[in-house]
Amino acid sequence: MNKQILIVEDENDCAELLRYHLQKENYQTVVARNGEEAIDAVQCHKLDAVLLDVMLPELSGWEVCRILRESSKGKSLPIIMLTALSDEESRVKGLSLGADDYLAKPYSMKELLLKVRKHLDRQDAVRQCTARAQEQDTALQYMIHEMRNAMTVIGGYSSVALKKADPRIYLKPIHTAAAHAESLLNDASLLSRLESGGSLPLETVDIVDMVRDVVDTFHDGTNKKRQEIVIMNFRPCRIRVNRTAARQVLVNLLSNAKKYSSQSSRIWIYFDEHPETVSLSIKDEGCGIPQDELTRIFRKYYRAQGSERVKGAGLGLYIVHLLVKSMGGKITVTSEQGAGSTFTVSFVKADAASHDPAGAPA
Ligand code: ADP
Repeated sequence: MNKQILIVEDENDCAELLRYHLQKENYQTVVARNGEEAIDAVQCHKLDAVLLDVMLPELSGWEVCRILRESSKGKSLPIIMLTALSDEESRVKGLSLGADDYLAKPYSMKELLLKVRKHLDRQDAVRQCTARAQEQDTALQYMIHEMRNAMTVIGGYSSVALKKADPRIYLKPIHTAAAHAESLLNDASLLSRLESGGSLPLETVDIVDMVRDVVDTFHDGTNKKRQEIVIMNFRPCRIRVNRTAARQVLVNLLSNAKKYSSQSSRIWIYFDEHPETVSLSIKDEGCGIPQDELTRIFRKYYRAQGSERVKGAGLGLYIVHLLVKSMGGKITVTSEQGAGSTFTVSFVKADAASHDPAGAPA
């Protein structure tokens, strides 16, 4: 959407000239003829910057600037003051009241437009940083909350178990919570390693052993939704991966398949062997993903519409994508809303990697 600029100017001709040049640059404009109108306009419109004349009737531009800086909507708006007063004292006064820039009349329209562009670009950068920081904070809060829940379960059930003659019945929730905590920590440590430019050491792993091991953890835990994981057409095959990362890929995809599917549904894991790679497809009967969001779900913090009811931070698939790529593999998804999703991930076979120098251990 085009940026919207508030022109605060009591002189008709000046206001019209500014409006004409700003609109020529594709900005939308709102004009206020005095200080009161300017303050109202900031409350009522979604503005991106203010051009503020100082010499206004009644409320001066200085006053307007001060009031805007104290209001929630005006405190971070770029304000450029325009005035016939060009002395140093006026400039300093404008800037100390919170204006971002200052132009003395008569000003060059070219210079004014450049200043507007510069302040809008800076504001965009600040908005992006703020949005990113908020997303990071939400994700961090989610992880802390999940970790705390897991520790509460582990601590609570283990202290009860210690007092019982047969503590085995208390082990299931402890086991599930510990696996969840481990998964959160793996996500966090693998993510920080890859995002800071690090690589993952590769080793040869039997894909069948790895899949069975992960599926057993899911079956051993509390299966409140009574979902079943079915492994199809498996044949032993050795792949060249980082064991923790490959495991985490599977854990994240299976957790999502469970999270986004209903009670008693089934999840299938298919195995497909190609000359150089092996692919695993995790297919569920869950809510599915809207087609127009399929390319976005691997972005950091992205959550598809309708996911609000399910707990999450929008990090799982982003991490899966990073991990798979770092091991030379690929991930794809197909989905139908209301019918389910299939995530297919490919890993490089160990014998293919030994012929390829790029697949050599890190
Ligand atoms: P989270 O599950 O924490 O939101 P993810 O990065 O794992 O984050 O997934 C991103 C989004 O992709 C989810 O919010 C959800 O909308 C969608 N999604 C992922 N896996 C599935 C699935 N198996 N079924 C339906 N939607 C899914």
